Amino acid sequence: MTQNIEQLDRLDSLSAIRGHFALPDNTIYLDGNSLGALPKASAERVHDVVNRQWGDDLISAWNKHSWIDLPLTVGDKIAPLLGAASGQVVVTDSISVNLFKLLITALNMQPDRHIVVSEQGNFPTDLYMVQGIEALLGENHCKLNAVPTEALVDALTEDVAVLMLTHINFRSGRIHDMQRLTRLAQAKGILVIWDLAHSAGAVPLELDALHVDFAVGCGYKYLNGGPGAPAFIYAASRHHAHIRQPLSGWMGHANPFAFSESYQPAEGIRQFLTGTPSIIAMAALDAALDVYADTDMQAVRDKSVKLTELFLSLKNEHACLSELELQSPVDTAQRGSQLSFSHKDAYAICQALIEHGVIPDFRAPDIVRFGFTPLYLRYSDIAQAIDVLVTIMDEKRYSHPKYNERSTVT
Ligand SMILES: *Cc1c(COP(=O)(O)O)cnc(C)c1O
Repeated sequence: MTQNIEQLDRLDSLSAIRGHFALPDNTIYLDGNSLGALPKASAERVHDVVNRQWGDDLISAWNKHSWIDLPLTVGDKIAPLLGAASGQVVVTDSISVNLFKLLITALNMQPDRHIVVSEQGNFPTDLYMVQGIEALLGENHCKLNAVPTEALVDALTEDVAVLMLTHINFRSGRIHDMQRLTRLAQAKGILVIWDLAHSAGAVPLELDALHVDFAVGCGYKYLNGGPGAPAFIYAASRHHAHIRQPLSGWMGHANPFAFSESYQPAEGIRQFLTGTPSIIAMAALDAALDVYADTDMQAVRDKSVKLTELFLSLKNEHACLSELELQSPVDTAQRGSQLSFSHKDAYAICQALIEHGVIPDFRAPDIVRFGFTPLYLRYSDIAQAIDVLVTIMDEKRYSHPKYNERSTVT
């Protein structure tokens, strides 16, 4: 097996990309799906933006370094990863705030309908945002119907305004069939919002080809934009003339610097902007995306599948690992770039792994989640992570009380 793994690394067409990341020694990072690793170019860019652009050029930098255009230029860098033509992606705010904008936009486009269908087990913030809109507008204007996965198709009836789903489930890694669900929903006149938090930069996407209406996604997970990196919105260009988003701030105005007292939305995707963007955060994401410039998303996906398959096959060689029960789909085609396992001591196992240099994460109530980022993981890292896992499980090292003290962020 050792021989085999060395060979997998030697033949890996993406292996050179790892050099673009600043990774700590003696650490195997299996949490890039929560916070992507630091691209060296982001560290350099942030330093330059702070010291030279801001330090020397002050206010003139908004024009001189095109700061004002960054939400759109960075959006156009993300677009190819989504299978989207340019002019349909803007980088702004967080997923939560962007869902608010899109949900109200979509509800306004469907004046005779008010139901938002989503799924139980969706990422909580997605459901919370609908609940907030329900409280704001009243249940006659917005009503959440979160159903079990198997009831989704039946819930798509002609009184539904919006179907809002997360493409790859954060807990299990299960992938929804975007094409089928988009088609079924649209056949009933329902607008579709996809949350791509665990998809963008992890799996190939075809938003334009699948005729998706709207999407949101995350800058700090697989796109490696840094903690709290701005998120993005995709809105298909066919909708641009009919949208009116509710957070009508000056940056989304047709002419912000006219300082007119009445709001007039910008044409196109720019109207989804609200206030002044964080240029430092935007610059970090902009530089991080350069790593993807010459990277084929199908190659990323192929390697991701091989990494997860290797992890599972090595895990199955050890009886002491059988207590960790796979909660992700067994079929690779149906799961994203992660593997989740349930165990009653999941939290302590995570803490023990972290102390031994292997970083997964814990998702309440009982999941150990391993994220696989093909841009900077080697096959040998997977083998080493399994060795560490074996030590911890075989000797029950995780049962030490120190591994049970919970921090605020898990
Ligand atoms: C990570 C994640 C978010 C994060 O939302 P923010 O508002 O950007 O913090 C939202 N939805 C899903 C599905 C996620 O995985």
